[in-house]
Amino acid sequence: MAAPLDTRRLPEETIELMARMGVEPSRLSGGSMAAKSPITGEAVAQINEHSADDVAKIVGKAHEAFTTWRTVPAPQRGELVRLLGEELRVHKDDLGLLVSLEAGKITSEGLGEVQEMIDICDFAVGLSRQLYGLTIATERPGHRMMETWHPMGVIGVISAFNFPVAVWSWNAALAFVCGNSVVWKPSEKSPLTAMAVEALFQKARAKFGADAPENLLQVVNGARETGAALVDDTRVPVISATGSTRMGQQVGPRVAQRFGRSILELGGNNAAIVGASADLDLALRAIAFAAMGTAGQRCTTLRRLITHESVYDALIPRLIKAYSSVQIGIPTEEGTLIGPLIDKDAYEAMQQALAAARAAGGTVHGGERVLADVYPDAYYVQPALVEMPAQTGPVLEETFAPILYVMRFKELDEAIDMQNGVAAGLSSSIFTSSLAEAETFTSAVGSDCGIANVNIGPSGAEIGGAFGGEKETGGGREAGSDAWKAYMRRATNTINYSGALPLAQGVKFDVE
Ligand code: NAD
Repeated sequence: MAAPLDTRRLPEETIELMARMGVEPSRLSGGSMAAKSPITGEAVAQINEHSADDVAKIVGKAHEAFTTWRTVPAPQRGELVRLLGEELRVHKDDLGLLVSLEAGKITSEGLGEVQEMIDICDFAVGLSRQLYGLTIATERPGHRMMETWHPMGVIGVISAFNFPVAVWSWNAALAFVCGNSVVWKPSEKSPLTAMAVEALFQKARAKFGADAPENLLQVVNGARETGAALVDDTRVPVISATGSTRMGQQVGPRVAQRFGRSILELGGNNAAIVGASADLDLALRAIAFAAMGTAGQRCTTLRRLITHESVYDALIPRLIKAYSSVQIGIPTEEGTLIGPLIDKDAYEAMQQALAAARAAGGTVHGGERVLADVYPDAYYVQPALVEMPAQTGPVLEETFAPILYVMRFKELDEAIDMQNGVAAGLSSSIFTSSLAEAETFTSAVGSDCGIANVNIGPSGAEIGGAFGGEKETGGGREAGSDAWKAYMRRATNTINYSGALPLAQGVKFDVE
């Protein structure tokens, strides 16, 4: 287990951590882009930023790498991903700590993020022998019809700060076994973890040998302009973009305009329904993690609690107590459950949402800034629970901070309408002991989200399932199940071994 971070020397800690993973210290100073840690709010490195011209050159190299990589048999491509998983196992503590340093996650969540990368590598290794197509009954004698799946080309991955490395791995592990190369633009708020992962990937590539081309994975650093250069490049057939709905509204149409394929993983405004028969002890623990964990900065964070009126008074006061007693502080210190918000903008957005909630008749518990005297440039907050008279105003929006809006319901239909009554459609839960309620919630007339859970919170997905959501969450699916198909193109092949030429649908077209 790595030692906890010493907040008096975060820049030095950064260099040491990254050097252990293979990143040259010279790459961490002298550049024009500041990499900050939300733990203290200070810049811990100055790195190079990539221009649109750089991106064009990098995509060219990635395309070249793809033309070689696609000829390597898929199970061998899986071997490269297996080696990447091994590097991640060896460097799990270091990378987990760097996630804490750069994204502010508590130690177990930083490590959990790396574990998720290891899990998807394992999944992708198995998948590399299972990129199955169908054989299909043909109506013509002496013919065979089948589908084959082929690599797409360069996959552009744009990622968000809050899962700085795991979301990349959901995409990249699949993209590599499917025969593609990857250009990754991490969030400008979390470039260091991406540089570390790139270095680990290069270690795996070196072990794999010459059949893995040099530019199979490249990282481009910069803000949205750098991402836009990737989005507009016609040599990038797939853009997988994770971030806010605002970002998706810009990226989706631009990719569509050039007939590219996009996988959009956007914002969530996730709800949980607590039914009259719910196990309240279990619900309380699940709600606390889902709503306060990661300082409310997960796409799947619980933001709306729709509580049956008969259990409201038994549950909500206990929850308010948990909110006031939770330990907030340096994310790598023992006992801390809530680390910092990513930056000042996040803090201000939280305060604006709380003001709007008060104006809409809400009663706010918590929400104050803490530790400002010790870390004036960092933004630690008491998580906020807001009792709302109705689902209005800020409740309808995703505010990327730990705010839980609590409301009451009488009938399940009403609760499901509330649950579905927002623009986003990522994750959802119901707490109930009623089979009928659970089944209704997960049926066609229940939750309209990409994830619908029973008796667990909406956050903390496993990689085995397809991850993503509907409506303004963008419709993309990543990670498990058959999400790999998004990184491949499907060809339908009909092979005639009959010696005759019967046309489909009985069409006659005989020429002399
Ligand atoms: P963001 O939208 O500010 O940035 C995300 C990424 O998109 C960054 O790399 C950014 O540089 C890039 N970007 C922004 N505008 C762009 C443009 N016009 N063209 C190209 N690239 C552009 O999001 P954030 O603050 O980093 O992350 C928080 C948001 O991400 C929340 O809304 C959260 O719900 C969402 N999120 C969704 C998922 C999911 O799987 N659905 C996962 C994690 C985060």
